[in-house]
Amino acid sequence: MGKRKSRAKPPPKKRMDKLDTVFSCPFCNHGTGVECRLDMKNLIGEAICRICQESFCTTITALTEPIDIYSEWIDECEKVNNFEDHDA
Ligand SMILES: [Zn+2]
Repeated sequence: MGKRKSRAKPPPKKRMDKLDTVFSCPFCNHGTGVECRLDMKNLIGEAICRICQESFCTTITALTEPIDIYSEWIDECEKVNNFEDHDA
């Protein structure tokens, strides 16, 4: 019987990377075109594509993260797309 080496792998370190503030654009599909900005003074979040200049604005809270603004934008886009589906 051979000895079974059981070397426990250390769990992957969970480290807080810098939050993503750059996302792919739903309009021009540029992978890193969209940049999110959080204006904590006025509680306004903005996502802007520096490639096609599409932008989206929404109100934020102190807990809002760039990804939240981005997903809200995507939601809005989907709503618009569904709406436009109605023409025939
Ligand atoms: Zn774009």
